[in-house]
Amino acid sequence: MTDVVIVGAGQAGFQVAASLREKGHQGRVVLVGDEPGVPYQRPPLSKAYLSGALPGERLALRPQTFYDKHGIELVCGRAVGIDRDRCRVALADERELEYGHLVLTTGTRNRELPVPGAKLDGVLGLRTRADADALRERIDGARNVVVIGGGFIGLEFAASVAKLGLSVTVLEASDRLMRRAVSPAVSAHYRELHERRGTRVLFGASVVALHGGHEVTGVELADGSVLPADLVVVGIGVVPNTELAADAGLAVDDGIVVDEQMSTSDLRVSAVGDCAVYPSRHARGPLRLESVQNAVDHARCLATRLTGTAEPYASVPWFWSNQFDARLQIAGLGTDHDEAIVHGDPDAGSFSVFCFRAGRLVCVESVNRTPDHMAARKLFTAGGSLDRELLAPGFDFRQHVAAVA
Ligand code: NAP
Repeated sequence: MTDVVIVGAGQAGFQVAASLREKGHQGRVVLVGDEPGVPYQRPPLSKAYLSGALPGERLALRPQTFYDKHGIELVCGRAVGIDRDRCRVALADERELEYGHLVLTTGTRNRELPVPGAKLDGVLGLRTRADADALRERIDGARNVVVIGGGFIGLEFAASVAKLGLSVTVLEASDRLMRRAVSPAVSAHYRELHERRGTRVLFGASVVALHGGHEVTGVELADGSVLPADLVVVGIGVVPNTELAADAGLAVDDGIVVDEQMSTSDLRVSAVGDCAVYPSRHARGPLRLESVQNAVDHARCLATRLTGTAEPYASVPWFWSNQFDARLQIAGLGTDHDEAIVHGDPDAGSFSVFCFRAGRLVCVESVNRTPDHMAARKLFTAGGSLDRELLAPGFDFRQHVAAVA
């Protein structure tokens, strides 16, 4: 039986290991991660873990006993090279791991802010448990919080600290919030939501420098203004960790290039999750997604192939984000939609946006309307669309999908 080595112990790496065992894989399963401890969930880091509502021990995806029971070997180390001829992975501490199959789940890393002062004390990112711990310590003494980037990380963090009564300013480079992920209607709703809780949101913001001696004291914008800050959180997107693959001669193009079954051009090497760019049947070209759903479903698809049954990856993308009391759920991909129809009542905080491309429903964004979200996933999974004319007041999307999908 093949020994599988998985490089990257985030959500995707964990899921590959767990699914391999679930599907009866008999060979060794070795999961290599560069953080101490067992693999953990990231979504609570910007929400319940940050606020203290979720204790640290509940962050773990599974306890150590799970790995012991299922014979999953956890290796703490950093992979620094792949020798594809000898089927070996080199770790930074000079250990080598031999593989029959290698899975790269190397994920992404935070984009760095390319301005003077970006390394001052009090300027932090939020990606790992250690980042969240550092932020928790800082939040206690902070008075003026500046968040750079109005994407998922920035807004979830801003909502968490606004709830604690801190003064928060969000600086977004573009003209609306979560621009890459949602329609203008949802962006506008979230702007209002944050502003109503006292958060200041500035668009078209261009940060040119961070001020301070040892500790950060302010954020300078291109117009010369300086915002006072004793805590700055940078959430300006991520870049995929592809260096290991590229150095090993594997194809890389804003992600590690894989086929519909998550295989690279080397049949002994696969890649899944945030680091993988794959031919999605839900997009018009190759796609790389940063989401828990994508990590989990890719991993299950790969484990199915490695244990015998090859099936092309077909899962419908979906996402969620909790900010204040608004639960945003997105089904499908709406990035290049050409028509968006709001259904429901944004003022009452419960609505869905139906996004169409060339007359075909491609995405449903729901705010506090989980039944719409679940119905949309069911519809997209069945390959269905929706006649836009049906979206009149009183239309029940869930009932409609139950009847057609
Ligand atoms: P993100 O969602 O890509 O948002 C980054 C935002 O920062 C974008 O709106 C971007 O605008 C803006 N930006 C870029 N450069 C900037 C600058 N110099 N000044 C001000 N704004 C700037 O990325 P993220 O929020 O950093 O999240 C990191 C990762 O965690 C992503 O993979 C994300 O999907 C994941 N995550 C997901 C969730 C969730 O699904 N609920 C929650 C937290 C984190 P442009 O678009 O114009 O570049």
